[in-house]
Amino acid sequence: MALRDFFISLSENQTLSNAAGQYGLKLGAQSVVAGTTIEEVIESIRKLNEQGISCTVDNLGEYVTDESEATQAKEEILAMIEAIQVEELDAHISLKPSQLGLDIDIDFCYDNLYEIVERAHEYGIFVNFDMEDYKRLQPSFDILEELAKSFDNVGTVIQAYFHRAKDDIENFKDYRLRVVKGAYKESEEVAYQDKLDIDINFIELIEYHLAHGHFTSIATHDHNIIKHVKYYVEQYDIPKEKFEFQMLYGFRKDLQLELAREGYQVCVYVPYGKDWYGYFMRRLAERPQNISLVTKQVFNKKTNTLLAVAAGAYLLGRLTKKK
Ligand SMILES: Cc1cc2nc3c(=O)[nH]c(=O)nc-3n(C[C@H](O)[C@H](O)[C@H](O)COP(=O)(O)OP(=O)(O)OC[C@H]3O[C@@H](n4cnc5c(N)ncnc54)[C@H](O)[C@@H]3O)c2cc1C
Repeated sequence: MALRDFFISLSENQTLSNAAGQYGLKLGAQSVVAGTTIEEVIESIRKLNEQGISCTVDNLGEYVTDESEATQAKEEILAMIEAIQVEELDAHISLKPSQLGLDIDIDFCYDNLYEIVERAHEYGIFVNFDMEDYKRLQPSFDILEELAKSFDNVGTVIQAYFHRAKDDIENFKDYRLRVVKGAYKESEEVAYQDKLDIDINFIELIEYHLAHGHFTSIATHDHNIIKHVKYYVEQYDIPKEKFEFQMLYGFRKDLQLELAREGYQVCVYVPYGKDWYGYFMRRLAERPQNISLVTKQVFNKKTNTLLAVAAGAYLLGRLTKKK
């Protein structure tokens, strides 16, 4: 658990994020991030499409506090929507409200999201609102519900670790939803802390939306959950058109292909852009085993130094707090 906290705290460190961003993907982070430019990500998406796998594409970035940066992110996403249309890719958009101004001003964020969803709607492209930490949850849902009054191409994520998740899934049952376990560090007042509690809630939420809701994206690398879902849909005769399995780019590629070959819909979450740091740290927090697998490819001397400095700063902070 301590290691998880360590990587989550690193994921929230803006100074390190800025420093890491300068290095781009030249370090070799291609194993989990699909490029830094639209041209590069198009290539990655095309390869996945050729294997019968659809994509949800995410222009990396979060917690933006500067208006011009949020506007730039909006322009980048609009350009990606155009690219999906022109290149005829089997892909849709995932975005984080905090990248588009949620922390700046809710009306500003709403206007940015409106423009994105409207453009995607013209082309019949779906837009998913990724869900971030608890304090951003309700404001993001509020914007989503407002937009859903005008557009039907929007949906969001239900995070199973939240106590309120069952109420949310009921409220959003007419939406296309992605169900996940939840990736941020949350307090026990709002979220289950125990892995078993989260897993049980995760399964119940998936089953509820499969049985009562609109389209369900089951987003997990957990083979036990996937096995259970396969069993459940067969038992209750739920057609394969009503759901898909989602996994992150570069994770469990064999399982992605195996599911696609078995005739299940599979969608890969494809992140791209230079702002890869927070995303990558959260992935390490979830699965520290990835450190040995990925660091070999991702980090060279410069980033190893960066991480060492980060680790030092973190430990120093902990020690100072203890005193
Ligand atoms: C497509 C997608 C979108 C997401 N969107 C969001 C979001 O919007 N908001 C949010 O909070 N979170 C999001 N997440 C992250 C999610 O909340 C979890 O933190 C993350 O998926 C880890 O949980 P898990 O279910 O994959 O499996 P875990 O609980 O991490 O792992 C369970 C078990 O599965 C096996 N396993 C897991 N990973 C691997 C691997 N790489 N290789 C081999 N075995 C493995 C291991 O046996 C492990 O013990 C998303 C995840 C995915 C896949």
